[in-house]
Amino acid sequence: MTLIAQIVNFIILVAVAFAAVYFIVRILFREFHKQSKAAAIFTPLAPLRVGLGYDVHRLVAGRPLILGGVNVPFDRGLEGHSDADVLVHAVMDALLGAAGQGDIGRHFPDRDPQYAGISSLLLLERVGRLLAEQGYRVNNVDAVVVAQAPRLAGYIPDMVQHIAHALNIDAKCVNVKATTTEGLGFTGTGEGIAAYAVATVVSP
Ligand SMILES: [Zn+2]
Repeated sequence: MTLIAQIVNFIILVAVAFAAVYFIVRILFREFHKQSKAAAIFTPLAPLRVGLGYDVHRLVAGRPLILGGVNVPFDRGLEGHSDADVLVHAVMDALLGAAGQGDIGRHFPDRDPQYAGISSLLLLERVGRLLAEQGYRVNNVDAVVVAQAPRLAGYIPDMVQHIAHALNIDAKCVNVKATTTEGLGFTGTGEGIAAYAVATVVSP
């Protein structure tokens, strides 16, 4: 083999080696980039936990209608051991759920005479303290009351204030809505009122 042929062979070898290294590095870099993107998607931004609450009470004559701590004028009220504030009960269950603390039945059993006729806002205050003691901070609460009647829109700002005050949080962190079920089901016929709530808390 001539010297020129040897030089040409050497150059080709070096070029192939460079190309191979270049492609390997490119593939590895692409994989790394993909992985770091995936990590960014699956790493939570904050240690946020969500909880869900749902409650129903029967509407009966001879009881006041208490919703979100507001005494709403109506010909019937909710039946229950406490003041039967279905909205506050749903909110408490959402908060306890978010903190992994069971439900209100576990913390405030309805067989316990100390809770007879008690304002549910007081119980909500206790739930707020329980969460705070464990280092949880309430991030937000959103709830919906399901009732065919009475119309609740005018009372909602007061409900929000009461819930926020009991939890010692800004009213901007609390949202309450009301809806009907177009006459359908037990809420539609006025047999009872239901409430749903979700809450998020920041864990310690
Ligand atoms: Zn209840």
